[in-house]
Amino acid sequence: MNINKNYQNISDSYLFSTIAKKVNEFASNNPDKKIIRLGIGDVTLPLCKVVVEALKKASEEMGIKETFHGYGPEQGYDFLKTKIQSYYKMHNVDLKLDEIFISDGAKSDLGNILDLFDVDNTVLVPDPVYPVYVDTNTMAGRKIIYIDANASNNFLPLPDKSVKADIIYLCSPNNPTGAVYNKEQLKLWVDYANENKSIILFDSAYECFITDENLPRSIYEIEGAKTCAIEFCSLSKMAGFTGTRCGYTVVPEDIVFDGVILNKMWLRRQTTKFNGVPYIVQKGAEAVFTPEGQKEIQENLNYYKENAKIISDTLTKHNIWHIGGKHSPYIWLKCPNNMTSWEFFDYLLNNMQIVGTPGSGFGKNGEGYFRLTSFGSRENTIEAMKRFDSFLK
Ligand code: PLP
Repeated sequence: MNINKNYQNISDSYLFSTIAKKVNEFASNNPDKKIIRLGIGDVTLPLCKVVVEALKKASEEMGIKETFHGYGPEQGYDFLKTKIQSYYKMHNVDLKLDEIFISDGAKSDLGNILDLFDVDNTVLVPDPVYPVYVDTNTMAGRKIIYIDANASNNFLPLPDKSVKADIIYLCSPNNPTGAVYNKEQLKLWVDYANENKSIILFDSAYECFITDENLPRSIYEIEGAKTCAIEFCSLSKMAGFTGTRCGYTVVPEDIVFDGVILNKMWLRRQTTKFNGVPYIVQKGAEAVFTPEGQKEIQENLNYYKENAKIISDTLTKHNIWHIGGKHSPYIWLKCPNNMTSWEFFDYLLNNMQIVGTPGSGFGKNGEGYFRLTSFGSRENTIEAMKRFDSFLK
């Protein structure tokens, strides 16, 4: 038996364990000091009421013979897919029901989709990046090339025609930088992919944070995307489903490579390797897309957005260069005085007892940058910014 040796090429993620170690050490040496965590990527507000009611009702149904549900369709129930179809319609995107696949979250599908592609494909990944794209391809033994996202392109790299890539990852609004592509920029990627016969894997896990109607929430708002892009979405940040687990992936029927329809291939893959998201969870997800659900999740999203504004305003006041925060829960800042990411981490922890995430943990271009998130409580966010104010005075 030979193991998959590609796993030996995955770099160990020391980022969050190193953060935890440093924070624990500081806490035990300074028990009287309150540490505020603005590094978290998880939501903190609970599920909204209509979702909880729907989950309860569906659980009751599961205990009654007549309304009990066993195996469901692997690609998700129509009651949820119809709601998602209407959600897209609100942004002028027409999807067929068969193009929507319900999943247990974007992360699984971002990894699973790779079953459809040959290992010989070259993968293009922006740097800095959500580490899952790199690790899943490394596990499969695919060659990865990087495209620089940096201050000179506002962390929004555009295609370079001299670079040949088969699989392209785009994430907008971006984790970690919070940068968002506009329609013209995405059109360049779509044209590049169609010309080169490449596929774009578009991660729109944070689309719900976009407030500017002119910014695309889906890549299918761009003409030509339906022949070259698969979109990954998530209810995690949109509706607090990080622990409940539900997302969806859109595979348009018009994507055809080597005479094969990718939608059919994905259906085959899912029906073979996946048995669907629990009925109860899909009922909870359905409630998210009702008018009451949309209203309630919007209140939570507004709460996070206000936190982001509080952080962004404070950074602006102190002339700290930053992007994100507007259409994203992430604020990406340049460490002051040319500090490295880890130097700034230590500086914040030791002087202000604020914890964030060093940008260097997301790739080489993240060095010298730092990620703060708006997922903390209002009280903690305000307190953290007060500390910024008084310390930086
Ligand atoms: N994509 C991005 C860019 C993320 O930041 C995350 C989670 O943090 C995910 C996908 C995973 O989402 P899910 O919880 O739906 O698996």
